[in-house]
Amino acid sequence: MTLNASCLFCRIIKGEIPSYKVFESSKVYAFLDINPLSEGHTLIIPKYHGAKVHEIPDEYLTDIIPAAKKIALALGATPDDTFQYNLLQNNGTLAHQVVQHVHFHVIPKPTETEGLGVGWPQKPTDFDALKKTHEELVKKIEAL
Ligand code: 5GP
Ligand code: ZN
Repeated sequence: MTLNASCLFCRIIKGEIPSYKVFESSKVYAFLDINPLSEGHTLIIPKYHGAKVHEIPDEYLTDIIPAAKKIALALGATPDDTFQYNLLQNNGTLAHQVVQHVHFHVIPKPTETEGLGVGWPQKPTDFDALKKTHEELVKKIEAL
């Protein structure tokens, strides 16, 4: 566990700042968002300080999605559409990140107007452009 003394979410993990904890493992901590978009809006954070997801060791990330699944089930998720929700994770201020410690949002979407609203500004492309992007990306991924 590598924490930062001046980080708000590290201080929440340490219990220096109160939170409504809903789940904890050796690698993650989950608690209710203080300004929820909808009832049950929960944050899951790794017990490792880093602002963006690519700064966090894999061993801290592997507990995140299973924790999100537990929380979704506890909030009422079933195989049908009765309970709907978004998992959201922002990296960088342009990308709407405010707190600089990686966090994943679990946001119930009970109605059209409650929960997360998403802008989705799709742009047209073509297969040549996609092919170029694909080649560059695959080469870089293979080199990691
Ligand atoms: P971001 O925009 O960085 O993805 O989201 C940060 C989230 O952290 C916001 O939804 C905000 O309400 C939540 N948050 C900020 N400060 C606190 C706090 O002190 N306690 C809790 N529980 N949530 C916080
Ligand atoms: Zn931190």
